Amino acid sequence: MKFLERIFNHKQDDKKKEEPGRNDGCWCGSGKKYKRCHLEKDEEKRRRQGGLA
Ligand SMILES: [Zn+2]
Repeated sequence: MKFLERIFNHKQDDKKKEEPGRNDGCWCGSGKKYKRCHLEKDEEKRRRQGGLA
């Protein structure tokens, strides 16, 4: 039960983290805007994952 709950919650968290506002602070806590920080890396990662999958 707890294990499944954790997976479920983890997936929800991931989804939230994957789509921060581009002008919001980056999820990594750097204090920079997302578009100035991890936006490109995240998009590249997503592109790679989509290509491999
Ligand atoms: Zn960042």
